[in-house]
Amino acid sequence: MSEGQVVAVDIKTARLNPQEYQQNFSEMHPPLSDAAALVEADRCYFCYDAPCTEACPTGIDVAGFISMIKSGNNAGAARLILQENIIGGSCARVCPTETLCEQACVRNEQDHRPVSIGLLQRHAVDAAMTVGQQFFSRAPDTGKRVAIVGAGPAGLSCAHGLACQGHQVSIFEAREKSGGLNEYGLAAYKMLDNFAHREIEYITAIGGIDTRYGQRLGEDFDTSSLLQEFDAVFLGMGLGGVNRLNLDNEDADGVMNAVDYISQIRQVGQLSELAVGRQVVVIGGGMTAIDIATQVKMLGADEVTLVYRRGPDAMAASEEEREFTQIKGVKILYNAKPVNIVTVDGQVREVEFERKGETFTLAADMLFKAIGQSFSAKIDSALELEKGRIRVDAQRKTSVAGVWAGGDCVYDGEDLTVAAAQDGKLAARSINEYLLKSTKGE
Ligand SMILES: Cc1cc2nc3c(=O)[nH]c(=O)nc-3n(C[C@H](O)[C@H](O)[C@H](O)COP(=O)(O)OP(=O)(O)OC[C@H]3O[C@@H](n4cnc5c(N)ncnc54)[C@H](O)[C@@H]3O)c2cc1C
Ligand code: SF4
Repeated sequence: MSEGQVVAVDIKTARLNPQEYQQNFSEMHPPLSDAAALVEADRCYFCYDAPCTEACPTGIDVAGFISMIKSGNNAGAARLILQENIIGGSCARVCPTETLCEQACVRNEQDHRPVSIGLLQRHAVDAAMTVGQQFFSRAPDTGKRVAIVGAGPAGLSCAHGLACQGHQVSIFEAREKSGGLNEYGLAAYKMLDNFAHREIEYITAIGGIDTRYGQRLGEDFDTSSLLQEFDAVFLGMGLGGVNRLNLDNEDADGVMNAVDYISQIRQVGQLSELAVGRQVVVIGGGMTAIDIATQVKMLGADEVTLVYRRGPDAMAASEEEREFTQIKGVKILYNAKPVNIVTVDGQVREVEFERKGETFTLAADMLFKAIGQSFSAKIDSALELEKGRIRVDAQRKTSVAGVWAGGDCVYDGEDLTVAAAQDGKLAARSINEYLLKSTKGE
């Protein structure tokens, strides 16, 4: 069986006109107007047991902030959100709310539509951030110094928590910009208007946080050297590696890691500068697979097929995410495993799949691998691992005294922005207790 016809390789830039790029990469969920926010806030039942708060990994008082929006107190709402989750502006845009807070909303039972918690959260936080309204101040300097590795959501959340307590924080970041996947990974239509950067400016405005760029753990320094210079260390390096298909021709022209291309989408000046194929195949079943498939389609590819090795229920991407990409024109094929990458003159032309004992091929001038990321940082051997990631306890302490870790690089919880923010927050609290005890000489 053969699906799709082999056509000439056609990878090129500027597939669309400027208006089409603008339209395709416009806001996924446009913000609420003031009037719409009041109407939406009015739908909340302010449940006593607040299942939404239980479902939020950072435990935001959802009913509390919505009741403040309802009474016109957006600043109070923003404060309530940010005190639990300083990355609350990003989370409002990127949380898969349909599997978190909004899934728990009792409005689902009544009218099959939850309160739009993410949009309300964004409404309140954006109002405060736009005018630079700060709710937290830095305690007097404690003289304690903490090193943080990685300026992603986990590292930034930890940095803010510690700076609030008066500790001096130095972030060691391998790349040339802060933000981690907020800056380089999240889909372009979720994070518009340089939001990742604006959020970092807002977070670091508290003071007491300096960032050293181009500094890579395992190459420029290690945890032991940090422990000599600092009173505590937090590791938030995320996942640097990408999983391989382990097929021949995996490094052929036209075959790419989805995260690398997504990073280009986020960093390129003009989307028209990005070259994209006509027939694109994506392999994977998570958010990254959905995001690359949708964005490549939005960049003008004719046919984008996302192929997943199991059924829809096993997919890490939610039903809403699957629906979203399908509405944008991406075709999803289930229960098919890639078995061969066919190339001509070193360029991918077809991908062969196996499904229920049969094989079929899809024509492809670009093939994206989105089958997961892996932990790749070089760390001290004293740090214990669990399933290939750093082992931590409930306070995010590692097996090495004075070293905490959180976010995607640890084996605990889901790989989500909001989970990384929570890890950073918990670690900051634990590090603060440790530093206070060491001050008292305990
Ligand atoms: C394509 C894609 C789309 C996603 N979409 C969503 C989404 O829509 N919603 C959602 O909730 N989650 C999403 N996620 C997951 C989310 O982005 C991550 O869970 C989150 O960013 C983890 O934060 P982190 O701080 O642990 O790591 P990261 O964001 O990866 O940040 C780690 C930081 O450490 C730096 N670093 C790495 N190695 C070193 C080193 N050796 N030395 C020094 N610094 C180092 C990196 O440069 C980076 O700045 C997505 C992930 C991907 C890959
Ligand atoms: S942080 Fe995310 S999960 Fe938590 S309440 Fe906000 S949108 Fe929902």
